[in-house]
Amino acid sequence: MRIVLELLKENIKSNVENIYKKAKKPIIAVVKANAYGMGSVEVSKVLDDSPYVKYFAVACVEEAVELREAKVKKPILVLGGILCQEDVEIITHYDIIPVISSDYQFEMIKDKNIDFHVKIDTGMGRLGLFDLTEDIAFHPNLKGILTHLASPLDKDYSFYQINKFKDILKSLKRKDLEIHLQSSAGLMYELDFTTSVRIGLAIYGEKPYDSFEVPIKPIYRLRAKVISLKAFKKGDKISYGGTYTLQKDAIIGVVSMGYADGIPKPLANKWYFDFNGNKLPIVGAITMDMAMFELPKDVNIKIGDYVDFVNEQNTFSMASKIVKTIPYELMCRIGKRVKRVVV
Ligand SMILES: *Cc1c(COP(=O)(O)O)cnc(C)c1O
Repeated sequence: MRIVLELLKENIKSNVENIYKKAKKPIIAVVKANAYGMGSVEVSKVLDDSPYVKYFAVACVEEAVELREAKVKKPILVLGGILCQEDVEIITHYDIIPVISSDYQFEMIKDKNIDFHVKIDTGMGRLGLFDLTEDIAFHPNLKGILTHLASPLDKDYSFYQINKFKDILKSLKRKDLEIHLQSSAGLMYELDFTTSVRIGLAIYGEKPYDSFEVPIKPIYRLRAKVISLKAFKKGDKISYGGTYTLQKDAIIGVVSMGYADGIPKPLANKWYFDFNGNKLPIVGAITMDMAMFELPKDVNIKIGDYVDFVNEQNTFSMASKIVKTIPYELMCRIGKRVKRVVV
């Protein structure tokens, strides 16, 4: 295999258990966007029997179908809901629960005996209804209600949203609904009126903020093969554009991982591959299928060895800070050619 994403089963399980212990309520495991690049089928299979996970959540109907075809059994929520008439037929056939965020969506399902959750926009400024109509509030197929925090680290704004949500729940006068609003960062709030939490990032072992109090571990080890080791001379240039010039004679290694596999091009000359705790600095432009490193003295490596782009010690969060983005984005970018393997 030229490149493989190893998924650490024990870490997935312990993360979920620790999140449950913190939240003290069941988890809706968010596995949208191919489980943040990790592999939604692989991750969902690990969690399908978990007593801590009650539902899976994905962004669109196509992602839910992929899980059902892979024989995932738990209920699946589609956060983006249905977009067209065809989606209505698909969710009926595959037993998928849409989140309804507009009258437009509600009209498509209201006479079809399809269970649904409804999303309220309490200040996220994205999807969701501002208020519930009687039609929706008393609909027999309404099974859950949710909202989403826009800035979970901002306590004032979050409580503004939480209180708005509570007001709607109060006027709703129903005791039978699944109620959820917290994502990973939202776990800092202890809320007694919700019945489940909607967690993505923390399941994968990335902290939503530095002082995150739940003990979690990265679930990934993204490794690629060293396919060339060659001695270059001082003054030689490496890769497209010649952005790196050797300051001394050195061995340059070529790794079979490029930006098509998810290594961001702006990390050139700023990140490293990890080889058994040794840092091999990435030098020269990152290309579509390959990236180069300069081999430090005293590191014993040979062609065919694997090096890690990220792992438990060298995380997506760390790499994402360097390129001024969030771990979510780097994770989602892991390419299609990367084989996902549960270990
Ligand atoms: C993606 C998403 C989540 C999960 O957020 P994390 O920060 O990854 O835990 C929860 N709720 C909604 C509506 C989402 O879109």
